[in-house]
Amino acid sequence: MRRIALLSQRLANQIAAGEVVERPASVVKEVLENSLDAGASRVDVEVEQGGTKLIRIRDNGVGIYRDDLALALSRHATSKIVDLNDLEQINSLGFRGEALASISSVSRLTLTSRRSDAEDENGWQVAVAGQEMTAEVTPAAHPEGTSVEVRDLFFNTPARKKFLRKEQTEFNRIDEVVRRIALSRFDVHLSLRHNQRTVHQLHAASSLQEKQRRIGLLCGPAFLEHAVHIDIEAAGLRLWGWVCLPTFSRSQPDQQYFYVNGRVIRDKLVSHAIKQAYRDVLYGGRHPAFVLYLELDPALVDVNVHPTKHEVRFRDQRLVHDFLFRSLHKALADVRPDHNMSSAD
Ligand code: ADP
Ligand code: MG
Repeated sequence: MRRIALLSQRLANQIAAGEVVERPASVVKEVLENSLDAGASRVDVEVEQGGTKLIRIRDNGVGIYRDDLALALSRHATSKIVDLNDLEQINSLGFRGEALASISSVSRLTLTSRRSDAEDENGWQVAVAGQEMTAEVTPAAHPEGTSVEVRDLFFNTPARKKFLRKEQTEFNRIDEVVRRIALSRFDVHLSLRHNQRTVHQLHAASSLQEKQRRIGLLCGPAFLEHAVHIDIEAAGLRLWGWVCLPTFSRSQPDQQYFYVNGRVIRDKLVSHAIKQAYRDVLYGGRHPAFVLYLELDPALVDVNVHPTKHEVRFRDQRLVHDFLFRSLHKALADVRPDHNMSSAD
């Protein structure tokens, strides 16, 4: 055994990267979420070779001050929370200040940004390549907002790189991340390109009709045809979205999107409530399809459970479970069974 020594910042970041950055799709998720936290109304995502060669995400959000650029890449540096009280009331997607530090420790990362309220005519840029943070800030042409470019992911961690799958598989995961986010933010214009080809071009949607159009583009016309739109409020909880009737079901649970206060989650309690609601109408191992949004007071839900933040903890589990079950059960029962049973896949 050696004597105790502090980990270097680089090594600490690479260890943390193991949790946050599993594959190109995790990079896209983190960087895209940062753009949304920055208030962007438009985000363009461009990837090459399944994201292993290049991930470039450009937004028109508030931008980052020149003097904060290097800090944005440091671990535990965040503009989103200051104290424990903020953590209780969290409404941003990020808050750990870990993503950019982790990503830059396992890739060649360039961060370019321009603040809307800065006096400079130009933007500023920092570039790091898996190194200790000694980045130099240089002027760069950039409109208001931020671009993050991540090249050669895992170039310096060959063991991690070995675990990447085929280009198409990695791209599919990226596509899924973009879909999930696109379904949570109708107000944001989103585009996705892979190897110079446009995969999604989604215009901002505000009316119900525009939203349904986005649902159709992302979930397919059959989903839309068999879905009912719901919007139910009770006891300070609101559930809205689209639930497919039993006339449209899946062999896999691959069209199930559930959001809590805008954050996509996977949760046993939620799954159970939904399963119960469909119990009498779906059988034979079929899975329901839905895009649902639960909104409640942020103080009643704890999101600080897991680094990848897919889990939540509700303060009043029984209340949430009952509300979901009742709302969905009623929505499914209210619709007269005038469709023949058919399967979608
Ligand atoms: P977190 O999102 O948890 O705060 P990140 O490492 O993802 O941590 O980002 C660190 C900080 O960098 C953020 O708190 C934010 O201030 C800034 N930042 C990152 N991306 C953007 C962006 N696209 N626009 C504006 N600021 C950004
Ligand atoms: Mg973040």
